[in-house]
Amino acid sequence: MALRAYLIQAVFRALLTVLSPSQEMLDIIETAEVANASGDLKTAGSSEICDVKSAGKRCTGVDSEWASVKRLLNFVVVGGGPTGVEFCGELSDFIKQDVKRRYPKIAEHFQVTLVEALPGLLTMFHKSVGNYVQMHLASQGVDVKLNAMVKEVEEEKVHLKTKDGVIDMDYGILVWVAGVGMRPFTRSVCEKIGKENGQTDRRGLLVDECLRVKGTKPGEVFAIGDCAVSGKPPTAQVAYQQGKYLGRMFRLGKEHLIADPEAPAFKYCHQGTMAYIGDSQGAAEIDPNAFFKLGRSSVTDHMWWRSLYGDTDQLRVMGPAGFAIWRSTYFSKLFSSRNRWSVASDWLRTGMFGRPASSSAQGTYTA
Ligand SMILES: Cc1cc2nc3c(=O)[nH]c(=O)nc-3n(C[C@H](O)[C@H](O)[C@H](O)COP(=O)(O)OP(=O)(O)OC[C@H]3O[C@@H](n4cnc5c(N)ncnc54)[C@H](O)[C@@H]3O)c2cc1C
Repeated sequence: MALRAYLIQAVFRALLTVLSPSQEMLDIIETAEVANASGDLKTAGSSEICDVKSAGKRCTGVDSEWASVKRLLNFVVVGGGPTGVEFCGELSDFIKQDVKRRYPKIAEHFQVTLVEALPGLLTMFHKSVGNYVQMHLASQGVDVKLNAMVKEVEEEKVHLKTKDGVIDMDYGILVWVAGVGMRPFTRSVCEKIGKENGQTDRRGLLVDECLRVKGTKPGEVFAIGDCAVSGKPPTAQVAYQQGKYLGRMFRLGKEHLIADPEAPAFKYCHQGTMAYIGDSQGAAEIDPNAFFKLGRSSVTDHMWWRSLYGDTDQLRVMGPAGFAIWRSTYFSKLFSSRNRWSVASDWLRTGMFGRPASSSAQGTYTA
């Protein structure tokens, strides 16, 4: 057997010497390996590699195929808010922890680009958090493009307008996380009420301080959550507190009160902002009072103590500690024990065996 293997190898070497393999030839081999690993490209298989002559004839085709493989591995994420940053963090984790282990030859060709029109990331956080996240993502291999605005998206190309001119980028997957639009129903309600009655915002239904929809009879129509424009960010934290406020008003039988111009206004208590940034690191800005404050006394008011030495900002926690806060907060917000169990076991399974997308059951090459 050993002799036979040696002979085959010798013949193969001889053929390669005679035909003096070019870079194109080496590309064929690499492409075949990529195809073999990814399992979804019908390119040269291992038996075809040995057929050096016919492979040589197909060099030009493989070149363009390899270029398209590289293009397919380019991810462009548009929007440097929490969702865009979290997506880039998770994706770079997936590439580094799972793809690299299973398909090392593909992993090195992945490229993730984060595009943001503003000069910084996570603009709802303190500037220092944005800078930290930018450096961290760059260290994870994410190409962060700030001051870059998407002008046009074609089927395989995206055109960015930057200070230095227009950049054209090839992409395989483009993820748009630059904000949400109005639902058709919300838009139709806005249109029915009309601009002349105060519904002039393109983001949703304008409401007053008691969440009453402007331009309707007071106390009859309310809007909460993402469909409402109330001067608060469209987050679950806001939606949750608005729901509680309105629910309490109705439960207390204060519907008549809420129609009153003197009705108690909705008060938002911002408990913090968090984002996962990849590599088991997080960025969190929290109001410690939301977690630790006891009673109304300023003695237990963390922010009051901080204000004594001139620091009125929220607590900023970054790195692994930020990650621990981020995970435990979201875990505590899960509704049922069943959900908690399934999320916890998912984390454990991923930690031990990697993400299921990289299991041998998926993406296996079949000749
Ligand atoms: C990717 C992503 C990540 C986010 N991360 C965070 C985060 O980390 N922290 C945070 O605080 N917020 C986050 N948010 C925002 C948060 O999800 C929203 O602010 C929150 O869900 C708003 O709640 P809502 O009830 O107003 O709307 P939704 O949660 O969108 O619920 C609206 C529901 O109404 C249904 N619906 C719509 N139209 C109709 C119709 N005509 N008839 C019947 N049903 C209809 C929809 O199917 C949907 O189920 C994130 C949002 C996104 C998209």
